[in-house]
Amino acid sequence: MNGSFRVGKIAGIAFEIHYTWFVVLAVFSWILADGFLPSRYKGWEETTYWSIGTLGAILLFASVVVHELAHSLVAKARGLPVEGITLFLFGGVSSLKADSRGPKDELIISIVGPLASLGLFAVLRVLYEGVTDTTTPFAALLWYLWWINLALAIFNMLPAFPMDGGRVLRSAIWGLTGKVGLATRFATRSGQVVSVLVIAGGTYEALTGFFVSGLWTVLIGWFLFSAATRSRREIDLEFISGGPLVGDLMEPDPPTVSADLPVADVLLGGLVQSGRSGLLVSEHGRVVGMVALSDLRRLPRADWDRIRVREVMTHTQVHSVQADARLPEALALLGEHSIEQMPVMEGDRVVGLVRRSDLIGYLHSQDIGTRDPD
Ligand SMILES: [Zn+2]
Repeated sequence: MNGSFRVGKIAGIAFEIHYTWFVVLAVFSWILADGFLPSRYKGWEETTYWSIGTLGAILLFASVVVHELAHSLVAKARGLPVEGITLFLFGGVSSLKADSRGPKDELIISIVGPLASLGLFAVLRVLYEGVTDTTTPFAALLWYLWWINLALAIFNMLPAFPMDGGRVLRSAIWGLTGKVGLATRFATRSGQVVSVLVIAGGTYEALTGFFVSGLWTVLIGWFLFSAATRSRREIDLEFISGGPLVGDLMEPDPPTVSADLPVADVLLGGLVQSGRSGLLVSEHGRVVGMVALSDLRRLPRADWDRIRVREVMTHTQVHSVQADARLPEALALLGEHSIEQMPVMEGDRVVGLVRRSDLIGYLHSQDIGTRDPD
């Protein structure tokens, strides 16, 4: 994240702090020291309120780090790349790609965060039950921390993508239907609806006397809404850019025509009847180019016997894509040259043919790009 600095590593995971975090640390310390603690615990020294307030705020973020570490460590254990954890204005965020391999990874990696918070809550709650004098600063700290970890678990499980609950929802729909696009639209729409409710709740909170924490809630809601809206547009494309290779979706070893053949033989031959719109062209046992049948048909009929395929084909050097390219690159190449298919290469050898209709068909099967992404 821009504007953040590296603090170090925790359990092998890079840990960064964004400068906005100091603002929120100060605000939370102040809310605790000047509002919450004095209203609930009377008769402490002013310095006690402030030291316990500051410590409480720091431990709140330590709880957030434990939550994020759960995401990151499980992702790492499952072999997914983890960039690190950043604390910033709205809490913590783990930079990882939980959905790069499918719904199961996303489900497991998303749910362990709230489970870690729930675990912390349980431990702290049990410790608090063992406290004899609940009016001490130590008891106050324990009370605040079990409460905040429970709140973290519940809040993060709201079905609002890109929060954990929204990711759990998305992976469940994705797993059940096999359609990542449908899952994304549902989970991000739910994210937008929940955000609006959070903003409404925060507004009510601010107007009924809790101005600072209400304003905070409104800001979080606004942040969530824009994240859900952005994800709606971008996350499927991200999935596709880490998705199948052109080589997975091509037709391997398609039939070819000889470069020496007259156009007439191609247009009147059996391959045309097979419903193909283009053919690979071979010469001396190597694929050297490709012809689109629509281009051949545009030639004057009188020339069909005279013109050879070699003269009208497009060389593979001109239009082709590598087998290890991803869908966005292949679609961009097809679009750029306004063609419907092109040869697929491994190095300088042609290994298949990829059609726009097959790529679009794959996207439709995942329910991506079939409706307005709004
Ligand atoms: Zn989380």
